Amino acid sequence: MGKITNKPAFIPSMYCNIFGHDYEVSKKVTYHVKEYTCKHCKKQLTTNSNGHLIELTPKFKEINAILERIHNSRAERSKKKMITSSIY
Ligand SMILES: [Zn+2]
Repeated sequence: MGKITNKPAFIPSMYCNIFGHDYEVSKKVTYHVKEYTCKHCKKQLTTNSNGHLIELTPKFKEINAILERIHNSRAERSKKKMITSSIY
């Protein structure tokens, strides 16, 4: 057996198994709900209604999309309110 000169192939999921996932916020859904993506293996998490981190399944993606829409329309409405109240 000769010298091993090449570094072993980098397998992201193996990196995460050893060092743990390295999540960063990939999307802010509402003030309390965020989506996280692991920088190495792209595994996704989200905050559930209890504030716990859970795996981002297609079901939760759907829920988050709805939450985001509600959140954005609320933010839009309060912005309008602020504008009108500053006029009067
Ligand atoms: Zn990972």
